[in-house]
Amino acid sequence: MADAQKFDLIVIGGGPAGYHAAIRAAQLGLAVACIDRWVGRDGKQALGGTCLNVGCIPSKALLDSSRQFWNLTHQFEVHGIAAKGASIDVGTMVGRKDKIVKQFTGGVAMLFKANKIASFFGTGKLLKGNRVEITGADGTKQTISAANVVIATGSVPIELPFAKFDGKHIVDNAGALAFDAVPKRFGVIGAGVIGLELGSVWKRLGAQVTILEALPDFLGTADADIAKAAAREFKKQELDIRLGAKVSKAEVKKGEVVVTYSDKDGEHSLTVDKLLVAVGRRAYTSELLGEGTGVKTDERGRIEVDEHCWAGVDGVWAIGDCVRGAMLAHKGFEEGMMVAELIAGKAGHVDYDIIPWVIYTEPEIAWAGKTEQQCKAENIPCKVGTFPFAAIGRAVAMNEPAGMVKMIAHAETDRILGVHMVGAEVSELIAEAVVAMAFKGSSEDLARIVHAHPTLSEAVHEAALAVDKRAIHKAN
Ligand code: FAD
Ligand code: NAD
Repeated sequence: MADAQKFDLIVIGGGPAGYHAAIRAAQLGLAVACIDRWVGRDGKQALGGTCLNVGCIPSKALLDSSRQFWNLTHQFEVHGIAAKGASIDVGTMVGRKDKIVKQFTGGVAMLFKANKIASFFGTGKLLKGNRVEITGADGTKQTISAANVVIATGSVPIELPFAKFDGKHIVDNAGALAFDAVPKRFGVIGAGVIGLELGSVWKRLGAQVTILEALPDFLGTADADIAKAAAREFKKQELDIRLGAKVSKAEVKKGEVVVTYSDKDGEHSLTVDKLLVAVGRRAYTSELLGEGTGVKTDERGRIEVDEHCWAGVDGVWAIGDCVRGAMLAHKGFEEGMMVAELIAGKAGHVDYDIIPWVIYTEPEIAWAGKTEQQCKAENIPCKVGTFPFAAIGRAVAMNEPAGMVKMIAHAETDRILGVHMVGAEVSELIAEAVVAMAFKGSSEDLARIVHAHPTLSEAVHEAALAVDKRAIHKAN
């Protein structure tokens, strides 16, 4: 085994959380090493983790391609644009997505070089005394050490014992981002974020999509009004979402997948060409911790950390999907920067109360802060203002009248507690709400800020006015 190289910081995992920690620490003058094992579709190391390789970026690339196709075949007519005989070449679409992935994973490698970060390709294992053993693809081992180690090993899809991934018929997110043709019948287990986004991609391209969701309520983590409005739109798009559906079996027979599930009406069978299992993700921490490191994991395999992502052992930190909290790239980004700053002796902080969520369906769904249901459950007195996009000139001019903005403010202080949206481009509009909430703003603050006309952001302005029952373009 080679002699241990010494660094100030070793990051295990080069996904969004890990590469942010590495780059920020290098900016602050630390000698940094980052170990990552991800192998790209071209067989080479690909930094950027789930997000860049099989998550955020590739899914948004396909969502955008499929949205263009859907608009061409379903929306253009209303503008007087005829697009008869439109077709989609899936190979080109997936190839475009792969190119974008390569551009961004290569971009992280370039940033590592520019910041003089030592990049190791292999599997890291934390040993006692902040040493890390790296096993390369050919099995060779070397050990490096540092004063601080950040664990950022991310998460992997949860596999159902009765619907095991075979990479061909029963797939995870990576598989559903790489089909070579539009499946005629596409089944999804789980109407969560991945199920809705990837279900939308293949639906827009012509697949018949059925989503089986175990829970009786649709999108239970979103505000109930927003979930209801979104469900209405998905129904119009003929996304077949079946709630309270408990799947018990998925068998591949003669190139088809036969799924058995039961709901309140009894047992049913569904036959599809491809089945995506998207029932959540689990922290990826197995085989990561050597003997006697003192690092603890919880019942879900997540590394136990405090509010500053310190793992309870001198110099050991953990961030991103492998710890508690939302499994979102931007939550990992912020944790990465926080720990790098703390390690460098600076102040670091993440405001976990206002991490925005976005679901990139059509219409998009976005929120930050508490739902009305949470406020009620926590006995927080609140007042609510809503405003529909159907009354926003820009939304109607864009032929995007679906959805609304809902603002929740404290009944006594008027401080904004939550903002919830469903509609066109709300992934961008939510930033205004996050900024207002980060500055502890009130609905009155947003109501008095000038919003450009005509823009979609006027729905946020009107929702703020509506909290005080003084929206202009609707009856209060
Ligand atoms: P990961 O991105 O999982 O990275 C961990 C890295 O560590 C990987 O490269 C892995 O190979 C490596 N690794 C693991 N163990 C070891 C080891 N022992 N040694 C060396 N390397 C190791 N989030 C959003 O915010 N917005 C979105 O739009 C969004 N879309 C998504 C779409 C899909 C289909 C999926 C699956 C996820 C999406 N997410 C999205 C979630 C987002 O991808 C994750 O929250 C994010 O990637 C987590 O970052 P991370 O750095 O913690 O882990
Ligand atoms: P999810 O937690 O969002 O949804 C999983 C869904 O599957 C839930 O509705 C759950 O009730 C259901 N479910 C669980 N077991 C089931 C079963 N046996 N049968 C039927 N339904 C079942 O998980 P996901 O969609 O796999 O995504 C994982 C995570 O990745 C997300 O929670 C999110 O953190 C991240 N992600 C984020 C984005 C984004 O930010 N736009 C996009 C994709 C993924």
